[in-house]
Amino acid sequence: MSTPSSRAAGACLAASVVLVFAMLGSAIGQSAATFTWRGESYPIAAAGSDFSVGDAARALGFAVSRDTTTGVLTITGDGHQLVAGPGTSQVPVDQRTVEIGKPMRSVRGVLYAPADFFEKVLFPLARATGTFDATKRQWIVVESRGTPSGSEPAGPLSVDVAVVHVEPTTQVVLRESASARFEPRLIESGLQVRWIDRKVTAPFAERRFDDPLVAAVRFEGDTATVVFREPGLTARAYPLTGPDRVVVEVGRAVEAPPVEPAAPPPPAVPALTIVVDPGHGGTETGAVGPGGLQEKDVTLQIARRVAAAIPRVVASRVVLTRDSDSAISLDDRTSLANHEKAGLFLSLHANSSRATGAHGSETYYLSLESSDRLASEAARRENQPVPGSTPLPGSATNPDLDFILWDLAQSAHLNESSRLAEAIQRELNVVSKTENRGIKQAPFRVLAGATMPAVLVEVGFISHPDEEKQLRSATFQENVASAIATAVGEFFAKRPGTAPVSGPTPGTTPSAR
Ligand SMILES: [Zn+2]
Repeated sequence: MSTPSSRAAGACLAASVVLVFAMLGSAIGQSAATFTWRGESYPIAAAGSDFSVGDAARALGFAVSRDTTTGVLTITGDGHQLVAGPGTSQVPVDQRTVEIGKPMRSVRGVLYAPADFFEKVLFPLARATGTFDATKRQWIVVESRGTPSGSEPAGPLSVDVAVVHVEPTTQVVLRESASARFEPRLIESGLQVRWIDRKVTAPFAERRFDDPLVAAVRFEGDTATVVFREPGLTARAYPLTGPDRVVVEVGRAVEAPPVEPAAPPPPAVPALTIVVDPGHGGTETGAVGPGGLQEKDVTLQIARRVAAAIPRVVASRVVLTRDSDSAISLDDRTSLANHEKAGLFLSLHANSSRATGAHGSETYYLSLESSDRLASEAARRENQPVPGSTPLPGSATNPDLDFILWDLAQSAHLNESSRLAEAIQRELNVVSKTENRGIKQAPFRVLAGATMPAVLVEVGFISHPDEEKQLRSATFQENVASAIATAVGEFFAKRPGTAPVSGPTPGTTPSAR
């Protein structure tokens, strides 16, 4: 990941940054620090107790690109991607989000982050650990394995295998005992995953699977082979963290559609379906406000307004998971969206917190790990099953593994889900005129099985007396609905192949993704 020339260029750029900061230093309090890595020393700009993200990333051999409008840095290399921006303490890394102690900040075009950003996020990405010596103003960074601190070289990697078919693909999960680098290789009869620099403890030599696309998984040495059921299949492999795993997605290569003879014009029914899910219902009231307002009623009222608002923005048919005060299991809500082949799934809720003063909207997309404690509480509260509902598919012996399998349905759509969550949160911040609570991630079960972009919106805190009053008001409900509809419009506007309402041919098959 680091060539001598790229490292030299990085060091050179870093040196010029430090030069600038040496000149500005007396005015705004910056001071340089040094960074030692693999026997070389690099200057790194510092601002108070924060350090330049770009300098450190380049010293580690990562490629850094900067969006000049937003000041956001995208750091790539070694199969990883990290996005760091000013004003946020949420750091998207690969497919998850890591929370750091305080927000990053931009000073004269340079992005600075607190020490824990480097310790928790950047160094582990380079398989390194680092400590800052405040007296010498020096970061000492060493490789995680075989470090002078005497930690053992990495032992053999143990791998578990699970196979699940989520139409139209089969996903093979290779769950690892630790994060490890791997190289995928597509061969005629399957896809091979070879782990680099690690011995692999195989769970078996070969196991056959009763799956439409995958016949078997074989282990030999440091390589696992996912064997195709038939010739001509295609596959890709990608890493997920929390827990560490490699997912191999096997599918049929997309063929060009056959040329059809002149058909009658299609009926004027939009092909795009959006499923809106009013949280809770029936005996399951959800959260209850201090004035007695029940979450299940607010979610239904807002959902009906959203259902009316979206088709005004995007040519679509909106289906509600419930249009009455009835109880539905979490899995049935997602199943309905999958059955309808929906292009989007929006689950609506109202938040509740024992912390007085908690207010504002929050938009979530799925992750196995929660962004923070509040996110984890929200997920625990929303995941309470309806009495008598069916458990997740698969055996109940290992609920963790069940969840991992089930969340594969959503993992293919995480990027789009996060894009949708961002658009919705941006619009809701305008409506609620509250602080930006930001987009978050948590293991919401209602999102896990969705085979389309899916988000869960906590429209406000029903536990907050003022917000409870707002949530009752038709004006606020209508504003929330139109904010969500606007965001859905933005989402589809930036996605190729979807017609806005004013477009010539409304409706595009959502499955054409
Ligand atoms: Zn809820």
